[in-house]
Amino acid sequence: MTSLPHEAASMTDIIACSGAAAKVIDGKAAAAAVDAAVAEGVRQITPTLGRIPCLAVVLVGQNPASALYVRNKIRRAEAVGMRSVQHRLSADVNQKTIIDLIRQLNTDAGVDGILVQLPLPAGLDGARVVQSLDPTKDVDGLTSRNAGALVLGAAGIRPCTPSGCVFLARRTLGDLTGKSVVVIGRSILVGKPATLLFLAENCTVTLTHSRTGDLPRICRQADIVVAAVGRPGLVKGSWIKPGALVIDVGINRIDSKDGQSRLVGDVDFESAIETAGFITPAPGGVGPMTIAMLLVNTVAAASHRAGLDVPDPVAAVLPR
Ligand code: NAD
Repeated sequence: MTSLPHEAASMTDIIACSGAAAKVIDGKAAAAAVDAAVAEGVRQITPTLGRIPCLAVVLVGQNPASALYVRNKIRRAEAVGMRSVQHRLSADVNQKTIIDLIRQLNTDAGVDGILVQLPLPAGLDGARVVQSLDPTKDVDGLTSRNAGALVLGAAGIRPCTPSGCVFLARRTLGDLTGKSVVVIGRSILVGKPATLLFLAENCTVTLTHSRTGDLPRICRQADIVVAAVGRPGLVKGSWIKPGALVIDVGINRIDSKDGQSRLVGDVDFESAIETAGFITPAPGGVGPMTIAMLLVNTVAAASHRAGLDVPDPVAAVLPR
């Protein structure tokens, strides 16, 4: 059994798995710690703001997975004391109607963060819709201005899922300086920003993708593997350096033998748990952290726009 290398990785966040080598990181417990710090931030800024911080969520179409994600985001926002407003548009809505709604939310002084649930239904240009967001309210951190700020290492809103990955790595391993990280997947949403965020933690990062040759060999050199691919069970235990941290971002619905469907990650959990030192389950790992970081970004956006000192819930949970 690998020993805990950093005191920040409290045992309450690690689910012990008897007989297996890896410790399983409890993303729900880690997210609950961040949510508690966000709730404190909301309590602090509300009197000066003169209103409750507000997250607006735009959901287009009937995709059941998207509807579930939106429900969870709204539930968690309200649980930390924020206000939330939901705008549901039908799948056949035209692009201009969505952008008009976003412009209206951009200028609404009572709205601090705007989230457009992606992907949008076929025929709509998600990238253009995202670019219509006011960057100071873009709590997913996807506008050109926030993406550029990430590249430059300047202040800006960072994307939620990769921020959640870095948070889990820091909570588990402490200072990440000098760690070798392999990120699998080069999406704008996860892979590319994860690469830059781990780089900002002084890691040596290799970004891999579908055209990368000999991925298993590259992965075996990593202290931290981040899988963000969308291929169930792609990453095998034999790809993992003994003792490494494995962060599974993937959420894939597959059919079970009993005719039911279930969610699995991009990592073959049964084999990876035998080799890894630490592993996130999927679901129950990165997913809850994604929402926690959305709430962090929303309270920060509310504070910035009002010119207040920004309470940093991540610093409260992860002292440097
Ligand atoms: P994407 O489809 O935009 O990108 C997938 C990437 O994987 C691409 O860059 C592609 O090059 C790479 N890839 C595909 N096949 C590969 C292979 N065989 N070997 C190596 N690389 C390969 O996906 P995304 O939006 O980055 O999402 C990835 C996964 O993460 C999905 O399962 C998605 O549902 C999940 N996700 C989870 C959360 C969360 O909060 N947990 C958030 C976002 C995405």
